[in-house]
Amino acid sequence: MNRYYKNKYNKKNLTGVAVSLFLAIFFVFIAIITAETRKQFILIVMSTLSLIALGYYLLSYLPVRKWKEVLNTPFPKKWKEILLKNIEFYRELSDEEKEYFEKRIQYFLKTKKITGVGTDVDDKLKLLIAASAIMPVFAFPEFEYTNIDEILVYPESFDEEYNSGNEKRILGMVGDGAMNRMMILSKKDILSSFLGKRTTENVALHEFVHLIDKMDGAVDGIPGILINKAYTLPWLKELKKEISKIKHGKSDINPYGTTNKSEFLAVASEYFFMSPIEFKKNHPELYIYFSKVYRRKVVG
Ligand SMILES: [Zn+2]
Repeated sequence: MNRYYKNKYNKKNLTGVAVSLFLAIFFVFIAIITAETRKQFILIVMSTLSLIALGYYLLSYLPVRKWKEVLNTPFPKKWKEILLKNIEFYRELSDEEKEYFEKRIQYFLKTKKITGVGTDVDDKLKLLIAASAIMPVFAFPEFEYTNIDEILVYPESFDEEYNSGNEKRILGMVGDGAMNRMMILSKKDILSSFLGKRTTENVALHEFVHLIDKMDGAVDGIPGILINKAYTLPWLKELKKEISKIKHGKSDINPYGTTNKSEFLAVASEYFFMSPIEFKKNHPELYIYFSKVYRRKVVG
């Protein structure tokens, strides 16, 4: 998988970058030459073309540069130890997949800010958040969280006015309005998702699944950006069936999933990624759809 990024960013894209930069300079050159002939029309056309080429250069070069930096930076040994100790998903990957997971984590941390509000944020917390972001999109090398810039970490759960405290209701949320392009997470609840024993909960992953769901324009429990259209209808059918099971006390999926289809997707995804073997055993039919949507199968 790392070969995928290496091939992509070392050869093909760089050609596009070089061509667009050359075109930008070429158009500026023509514009300068024609400026003397006072043919304003040509000047305007050439300047516009030059700006387009320059814009393309910047847009395509910046992510390439970041990826190249990531590919050239070794993954810290200390970080590897933290992942091995805390993330079961990572432990079960092959060596090549592990390396790929590490690069995705590095890229995520390079492009998103993680800020503690009234609490400190150490490497472990950053890695837990980044790993939770990458787990659901692990099988999608092209995927990027283009709808978020920063993650704020509060010490504990919080309320609608963003007051943090022990008894507050919200563990995590994707911001809108003034908080657009931000996510807020409770540190205490992130850490409790990774206490060593198997859990079916992961508040950070929950919020990232909402972001994935949101990317097609609708937070509706159908992650349009990942799902093959042919699965949409059977997916919705299966989803409704399971929500009804939860309501009748016949499912071990978090009852918060009955709130709406989007919450169902988020809580069931937490379970699917944190305890995949149990998920497959307890929800074989739902498992088929989840493994298709996330392109992920477990052994067992
Ligand atoms: Zn939610």
